[in-house]
Amino acid sequence: MDGLRHIAEDRGNLILLEVHVKAVSYAGVRKMSVSDHPKPKLKAPTDALLRVTTSGICGSDLHMYDGRTPLDKGTVVGHEIMGVIETVGEAVSSIKKGDRVVLPFNIACGFCYNCHRGDTHSCLTMNPEGASAAYGYAGMGPYAGGQAEFVLVPYADFNCLKLPGTPGDQWEDDFLLLADVFPTGYHATELACVTPGKTVAIFGAGPVGLLAAYSSILKGASEVYVVDNIPERLAKAKELGAIPVDFGEGDPVEQIFKLRKKNKGIQESHRPGEEKLEGVDCAIDAVGYQARDDKHPNHEKPTQVLENVIRVVNPAGAVSLIGVYIAPDPGAEDKNAKKGIFPFPLADFFDKALSLGTGQAPVKRYNEYLRDLIVNGRAKPSKIVSHHIAIDEAPEAYEKFDKRIDGYTKVLIKFGQQKEAA
Ligand code: NAD
Ligand code: ZN
Repeated sequence: MDGLRHIAEDRGNLILLEVHVKAVSYAGVRKMSVSDHPKPKLKAPTDALLRVTTSGICGSDLHMYDGRTPLDKGTVVGHEIMGVIETVGEAVSSIKKGDRVVLPFNIACGFCYNCHRGDTHSCLTMNPEGASAAYGYAGMGPYAGGQAEFVLVPYADFNCLKLPGTPGDQWEDDFLLLADVFPTGYHATELACVTPGKTVAIFGAGPVGLLAAYSSILKGASEVYVVDNIPERLAKAKELGAIPVDFGEGDPVEQIFKLRKKNKGIQESHRPGEEKLEGVDCAIDAVGYQARDDKHPNHEKPTQVLENVIRVVNPAGAVSLIGVYIAPDPGAEDKNAKKGIFPFPLADFFDKALSLGTGQAPVKRYNEYLRDLIVNGRAKPSKIVSHHIAIDEAPEAYEKFDKRIDGYTKVLIKFGQQKEAA
């Protein structure tokens, strides 16, 4: 038996037998439920059905969990998904039953103006309400999420990344991170123009910030600072080779200026005037609009990190906002923030001649290359994974991850792997 539940529905004289699968769905503010949902069926000849082996809980899921996005109760969530293909529609030609694949969190058609240019995060056809689509996410189209035993994959030829190995092997967690946070962290470094030798400051030591730090190190950055105030996450940043900065110990930007001043080799290389380079070349906001106030960490200050990245970066440097800013925000404190309107220090930004990159990561631009770094033993992003759980433990894991307690940094939901590995 496949472990699925076959639910008989009595409709008068007709008894319908519907196959159900277990999935995590939104049940209201700070409430996730694990319940039975109809097993997805192919809707188009270009679709595939994926049996999920691992699915991640993302910092992005927490915005929905916290009630900071409008979302219907019962929506199946989860956009970090990998597994084994169960069936394919008749028009799918390059992916077949039994293939091991990971899905970019962006759902893209592959043929629109933006997809043609590699901008799959801005696909124009998959979401009738906007230019971007994803699995199980508020405002990102009608697609069920993959924190579930099965998920439907539109345009499977385009949206599946083929993987070597077998489910549950030594790469399973690394490959799962190709769905989102590894390519996203890498994209953050691209937007911030990180190249060998550059100095980088990253705010937020969640999975995205940690993998932006890891990507900066892979690219050969000379100094990488990671700011947060959660000890386990700062320890992980250090383990990856970054310099941790605890904002609980004072203004993080000043702390970075001081640390840079202590670097004798750098200071001795300055010509007169270059002492103005107190900060870094590249700054990354891996926190977004739910940023905590540096001085009062129990309170939110949506522009805290936005202000810090602009302050910490040197003139002519680059800033990347990879942490999200979402509107409408039903949980925001003031009426402008509810609409996603925030004060922005534009004069400082202009005066410093900074460049800015924003938006969702176009995962497909990087996922093949990052897969090959993993396969060739040059990258091990799964170092950031803190917890493996069964689907029934998801509600508790959401709660702990949301509170950032007990070391909950990156949680992966595992589905029936013993059976697979045998
Ligand atoms: P996360 O939410 O756990 O990480 C955020 C971290 O920021 C936490 O460790 C928190 O302690 C820290 N933080 C809060 N206020 C801070 C401050 N003032 N200074 C420094 N650090 C502070 O999880 P995550 O998965 O790493 O997600 C981070 C952000 O990236 C979220 O906004 C998420 O939605 C976004 N995201 C964006 C994309 C994209 O494509 N652009 C993809 C995935 C995630
Ligand atoms: Zn994600």
